[in-house]
Amino acid sequence: MNPFAASFQAVRQQIAEAEARYGRRPGSTELLAVSKSQSPASVRALHALGQRQFGENYLQEALVKMAALEDLPLTWHFIGHVQSNKSAEVAARFSWVHTVDRAKIARRLSEQRPMHLPPLNVCVQVNISGEASKSGAFPAELDTLLSAVASLSRLKLRGLMTLPPPEEDLERQRQPFRRLAALLAERCDRYGLDTLSMGTTTDLEAAVAEGATFVRVGRALFGPRK
Ligand SMILES: *Cc1c(COP(=O)(O)O)cnc(C)c1O
Repeated sequence: MNPFAASFQAVRQQIAEAEARYGRRPGSTELLAVSKSQSPASVRALHALGQRQFGENYLQEALVKMAALEDLPLTWHFIGHVQSNKSAEVAARFSWVHTVDRAKIARRLSEQRPMHLPPLNVCVQVNISGEASKSGAFPAELDTLLSAVASLSRLKLRGLMTLPPPEEDLERQRQPFRRLAALLAERCDRYGLDTLSMGTTTDLEAAVAEGATFVRVGRALFGPRK
């Protein structure tokens, strides 16, 4: 018996119900399984249920896991803060980076993306709530950063990402996601954007309601982190 069969089914159903409730096209929200602090065996079990997209926050932990799972056709997304001294490995080992928040890191990722791989898919992380402690570009800096990223040949600019502070109430959860969706809508033609990475275990429904194309879910799938 697969230990994650029930939780995987429940999360898939939650997404499908939210898509139906808010008039989203069925299947338009992709599930990114956040496997930070989880074992390779747990990732393997989710793969057996059909999950292919996995998100990791910490490079060293991710590299160990990738090595143990090399036999599986998984797509790896980097969703942690990108440190300059780790950018080369991030550029070489991941298919997506959701957390580009400054031009310097974008330039490094582009320069370091190996030529034998397709361009690295990137989202720009936006600090939508304006908290000093959170990472992400402020909305006022967004256009400068987006045009810098769009000019880099080894990056493929896909969209925007955010991680707002936790809120209990659905309406309050929806507000930052609505703002991110509006920022995307105003720019999607200019830059060819198609991705809104937003929503976690606690605010998945709000994110789907506001148009998420990736929800990043950890605990609802794997249980509490160690
Ligand atoms: C950990 C993490 C998630 C998943 O959070 P859960 O509460 O486990 O669903 C999503 N996005 C980012 C950026 C994270 O760091």
